[in-house]
Amino acid sequence: MNDIIEFDRKHIWHPYTSTINPLPVYEVKEANGVYITLENGQKLIDGMSSWWAALHGYNNPVLNNAVNQQIKKMSHIMFGGFTHKPAVELAKLILSLVPKELDKIFYADSGSVAVEVALKMAVQYWVAKGKKDKTNFVTIRSGYHGDTWNAMSVCDPVTGMHGLFGSALPIRYFIESPHIKFNQPWDESQMDELENLFKEKADEIAGFILEPVVQGAGGMKFYNPTFLSRARKLCDKYKVLLILDEIATGFGRTGKLFACEYANISPDIMCIGKALTGGYMTFSATLATDNVASTISSGNPAEFMHGPTFMGNPLACAVAKASIELLLSYDWKAKIKHIENKLKEGLSKAEEFEQVAEVRVLGAIGVIEMKKPVNMAVLQKRFVEEGIWVRPFGKLVYIMPPFIIENEELDKLINGLIKIVKEIK
Ligand code: PMP
Repeated sequence: MNDIIEFDRKHIWHPYTSTINPLPVYEVKEANGVYITLENGQKLIDGMSSWWAALHGYNNPVLNNAVNQQIKKMSHIMFGGFTHKPAVELAKLILSLVPKELDKIFYADSGSVAVEVALKMAVQYWVAKGKKDKTNFVTIRSGYHGDTWNAMSVCDPVTGMHGLFGSALPIRYFIESPHIKFNQPWDESQMDELENLFKEKADEIAGFILEPVVQGAGGMKFYNPTFLSRARKLCDKYKVLLILDEIATGFGRTGKLFACEYANISPDIMCIGKALTGGYMTFSATLATDNVASTISSGNPAEFMHGPTFMGNPLACAVAKASIELLLSYDWKAKIKHIENKLKEGLSKAEEFEQVAEVRVLGAIGVIEMKKPVNMAVLQKRFVEEGIWVRPFGKLVYIMPPFIIENEELDKLINGLIKIVKEIK
């Protein structure tokens, strides 16, 4: 064990680990394109895009240039009382791409904070309308919205952290995760549970929050987009705000720029993050319709009560703009389709393995669901030995490579994945 790993093991917390017996970590020296180079010189093909974020791969010259140019001007300046070109230009670009009803943008620090902001907007909207009891939220099971307090409260109550934090968390309304899968025929009875809940409880519900089409960290499930269009109608009928969490799905990952496009709907509030900066730094935004924003601003207080220190960080805005422009500069839809076809073909080999429950692919997301939870540490080591970077969790072994991945690299990633999954007992 070298000094870096040893110090890390002794003193540094990693995501979801113990400090006494932490999961192993690998020291990264650098990352370029789809390759992650470890300290020992070994190169791994990236299958994770650093958790949905690095869609152009690493060390991208265009994004590097955007950061370098901006850093010469200013890295940061407070957003209270100031504005700047990077914030305005990014807002113009984002607002031209999201559903047109979304008209206002609030910059935040991370996905979880964007969700907190969205939930606060919804509550403040109803306060401004004199409906002080509309403070609760509905969500679907198997969701994931982040690790901060209120984001956690709308994560899946079983696989999320509800058991641990118990009564410290606000109690939300959960309905079943849509059971109709992405390509399965629609059945109207799917909406009964939501409608019945709205009928009974709409007076206390501020918003319905969910991840559109793809449920990420809560189970990597893909559901029929008609659920969203029906949910939009029910939210209008029962006066509940629709909040879409596009933090994982945004910026092309599912095959559409935003997953809500599959249902042709517009939410009242929408969160984006992760791939927003092409994986360069933490940054997010919460978007709202003019109705939501102007209602809040007609209330008492008229101010929306949130304002992070690093709000509208110019470096993040500059790299986000460069990342989105880079994405739009090529035929990204064709590239995602190509990745999707290769994932479908390659991963389907796992369907016949006894230990595999299901294989599913949507856009540049490939999932192998096992029948039993995997041993992450053992499997991670085997993936590294195979020269690929894949980080499973629970029963899910999945990949979502950077969009720039070439055929040969994608073949290596898929073949390596299949080889190791076949070994699992
Ligand atoms: N929402 C969704 C759908 C996510 O996938 C995540 C991150 N996995 C978050 C929110 C939280 O984002 P962050 O980790 O940047 O706080």
